[in-house]
Amino acid sequence: MNYQLILEEIEKEIQPELSKGKVADYIPALASVDGNQFAMTITLKDGTQYSVGNYLEQFSIQSISKVLAFSLAIDIYSKTLYKRVGVEPSGSPFNSLVQLEYENGIPRNPFINAGAIVVADALMSHFGGEYASLEKIMNFTREISANKDIKFDSLVAKSEMEHASRNLSLAYLMKSFGNLDNSVELVVKNYFKQCAITMNTQDLSRAMLYLAFKGKDPISNKEFLSEPQAKRVNALMLTCGHYDASGEFAFHVGLPAKSGVGGGIIAVVPNIMSIAVWSPRLNKYGNSHAGTLALEKFTTKTGLSIF
Ligand code: GLU
Repeated sequence: MNYQLILEEIEKEIQPELSKGKVADYIPALASVDGNQFAMTITLKDGTQYSVGNYLEQFSIQSISKVLAFSLAIDIYSKTLYKRVGVEPSGSPFNSLVQLEYENGIPRNPFINAGAIVVADALMSHFGGEYASLEKIMNFTREISANKDIKFDSLVAKSEMEHASRNLSLAYLMKSFGNLDNSVELVVKNYFKQCAITMNTQDLSRAMLYLAFKGKDPISNKEFLSEPQAKRVNALMLTCGHYDASGEFAFHVGLPAKSGVGGGIIAVVPNIMSIAVWSPRLNKYGNSHAGTLALEKFTTKTGLSIF
């Protein structure tokens, strides 16, 4: 298959869609991003990459970081983690409070904000504080992407902390149910820092190879997750990776994937490749509008979906 040609076709076809949707502006530091950008990269087992568009442009990975933090946490806590965070789709927006109240402060899954905040708390407890925990997440991200220069953008993290009422509410509610061990402010701050990691589609696509290949990076041969753990992370991406549009995403694209409000989406084609796409304008569910369409076009043109 001529992947470069397919990506170029998609880039051309997607142009009329780039002006549709809205850049996330509830985090002021993200509001200034040029919304009409598009990038897509695929990475094969041997590391060969094909890219189109602004693939060197760094962007805020936001909720894609939930996959990284959860990968670390599942490796540490195994199934005991599910006592604090579930594995069911929420059918609710990413920052919804409603289910948390009547489900006793146990978030539905680790890919909604409440779940990711619990995961951030668990990592802080395990690694002995916010600095050590953030360092572990950063090092993990650098290792899986084979790029030691990856950083987080402290301005984006600070900007989000200044507008954090909703996430602080989620964290306080969980704390009231005894599902948060550390200080609410410190956990939410650390969660924002992990969300503020900046990467481009080349880095992100490379980073996800471990999930495309059963937990083991096929280039470095490092095992980041066991095969059953990788199965679980991929299953959660398929069922919960796009919030209340997860069913729609699976219906149209048919791949395990995770989005972020920075406009990035990562997806894996098991045993074949990992994909990263980025376009900052979001649809009403908070997922990249053009990015979602590009992935749909990719699986339709190549036949590479899990179904
Ligand atoms: N930092 C964002 C928040 O907590 C992440 C949301 C997302 O990317 O979906 O609101």
